[in-house]
Amino acid sequence: MSGLDALPPLREVIAAHGLRARKALGQNFLLDLNLTAKIARQAGDLSRCDVLEVGPGPGGLTRGLLAEGARHVLAVEKDARCLPALQEIAAACPGRLTVLNGDALAIDPLEHLTPPIRVVANLPYNIGTELLVRWLTPPDWPPFWQSLTLMFQREVAERIVAQPGGKAYGRLALLASWRADARIVMTLPPDAFTPPPKVSSAVVHLTALPAPRFPADAKTLERVVAMAFNQRRKMLRAALRGLAPDIEDRLIAAGIKPTDRAETVSLEQFCALARTLKP
Ligand code: SAM
Repeated sequence: MSGLDALPPLREVIAAHGLRARKALGQNFLLDLNLTAKIARQAGDLSRCDVLEVGPGPGGLTRGLLAEGARHVLAVEKDARCLPALQEIAAACPGRLTVLNGDALAIDPLEHLTPPIRVVANLPYNIGTELLVRWLTPPDWPPFWQSLTLMFQREVAERIVAQPGGKAYGRLALLASWRADARIVMTLPPDAFTPPPKVSSAVVHLTALPAPRFPADAKTLERVVAMAFNQRRKMLRAALRGLAPDIEDRLIAAGIKPTDRAETVSLEQFCALARTLKP
């Protein structure tokens, strides 16, 4: 790891390359390399994995991933100003870091990486949820990734791991728990970042299940859940009226009271309902 140890501190890197944080790109940087190594460790043993990192910025987490032994890291960064700093890291770890200047929403990781693949990222908040939903809803399962270790605003992290019965429970929790195990593994105060965001953050670790927890057609389940939570205060017989004329019978067949609200319905019940609706 001597190559990495010889790199300058991140504050110097940021000053040398003029990397003033841009809000529009969700730039809140992690400058403490002990902390970034700790985040990298939450992803488990990376020595036999390729890693996709979205938004490496000046490379704090990238250094953590490489220091923790990742076989190969693909770092996709939209902000071209960060590239020279990232190239310095690549030069310190020959053959282990590929830097791609582009939009993480537009790349196909399998064009660049060899499975098994883990995703580790301090995500830009503006596209974090969109990326997660995309990774949780691929056309085929299992997905390209083995695990996702992702930083979110704490409130979003709590929605991902939420259980039925509370305000945080909804589409994100159901999509996550249908095909993955999800838990919060770290929480971070605003002052862990430069500049500090307004709210606390949390790292969520998701592990892909080999198959969905309960059988259901993916598109039907996504539709039912989206409709149910679009009108989360309404009773399900009203919120889901548009799905089928006999929705009350289908709800009862799935073990759900038609007067229940989405918030109280378990994943197993939503899957049962989706099975009654599949054409
Ligand atoms: N990983 C760095 C760290 O922990 O210090 C930076 C994290 S910062 C929260 C998010 C990073 O994502 C920024 O560097 C930003 O430029 C980048 N970014 C924003 N939108 C992106 C996109 N669509 N594709 C790839 N990177 C993006």
